Amino acid sequence: MFDAILIDKADDAQSVSLTQLDDAALPEGDVTVRIAASTLNYKDALAITGKSPVVRKFPMVPGIDFSGVVESSDSPDWKPGDRVVLNGWGVGETHWGGLAGKARVKGEWLVPLPSAFSMRQAMAIGTAGYTAMLCVMALERQGVTADKGPILVTGAAGGVGSVAVALLAKLGHEVHAVTGRPEESDYIKALGATEILDRAEFSEKGRPLGKERFAGAVDVAGGQVLANVLSMIRYRGAVAACGLAAGMGLPATVAPFILRNVTLAGVDSVMCPKPDRIEAWTRLAADLDPGLLESMTHEVPLSEAIPTCERLLAGQVRGRAVVPIDPS
Ligand code: NAP
Repeated sequence: MFDAILIDKADDAQSVSLTQLDDAALPEGDVTVRIAASTLNYKDALAITGKSPVVRKFPMVPGIDFSGVVESSDSPDWKPGDRVVLNGWGVGETHWGGLAGKARVKGEWLVPLPSAFSMRQAMAIGTAGYTAMLCVMALERQGVTADKGPILVTGAAGGVGSVAVALLAKLGHEVHAVTGRPEESDYIKALGATEILDRAEFSEKGRPLGKERFAGAVDVAGGQVLANVLSMIRYRGAVAACGLAAGMGLPATVAPFILRNVTLAGVDSVMCPKPDRIEAWTRLAADLDPGLLESMTHEVPLSEAIPTCERLLAGQVRGRAVVPIDPS
């Protein structure tokens, strides 16, 4: 038996509880993992609150990521005792996920945990931090180097934003950070941002082309915020877009693309090919300051995970929330 959060649905009403499950109930898969830690990402909060149709099958154990130790394996790639991390692949959406004592998954979904990281650090990074790294890699692929000018990060006090600020600053970029929480300015500056910008400045409809301010941007917001960010990107700059915290829409014009040669680079962490995942985790081991990672991390016990989700969606959770499961 192991502890798990379970989401169920009956008569169109979703229920969520902390419960105990039997090992025999675990889904199909060739590797069973004893989970050391999971985390609360924005998508987990959408799943647990039911605010968005993230969960596609019921009952579902949520948790789109976990770190842990292989308990048993029929996969040639893994043996008991291997330290692994999992992000995405529909885990926590269509396949039971990480907010539980155990998971059974396909071996091909797992990535070896770099020796630089403890299980807790791996989930302090979690899908939010790994996605921040994918965004940095996307900007680099578009030639956005530190000498090209300032980089903008939206949602800077959140999970993806906090890690993106720390990574970009460590890589030598001048980081300007957008936040709706001015009270978190000192926190964001300690991560490496030099300028704090008010989210309100980005939330109202702006001009198709504004002043060319930024060489690139990491955007977690989408919606009007992304439209305004695009209008402020310098000639041949790029925006890595990974989120929808401000909305799914994109009320933009093509002006930044056809007049300034701006690139809008989409970033998806869920179905990302394995070589890119391994590159992202290797780069995180090299480019993310462990002290800064610790400063953006707090723990949420499994018993508190459900109520914390409402706060996360309300933009009240700072940085990264680790859910320790079996630290032994
Ligand atoms: P998070 O920790 O909740 O951070 C989101 C942040 O966005 C908030 O902390 C807030 O930062 C900002 N925000 C909230 N409402 C906003 C609004 N109306 N307008 C502008 N900014 C707003 O969530 P996360 O885990 O970092 O995820 C961020 C986004 O990335 C989510 O949309 C998530 O679904 C997406 N994501 C996508 C992928 C992918 O594979 N594409 C992977 C991970 C995450 P401030 O208080 O600093 O403004």
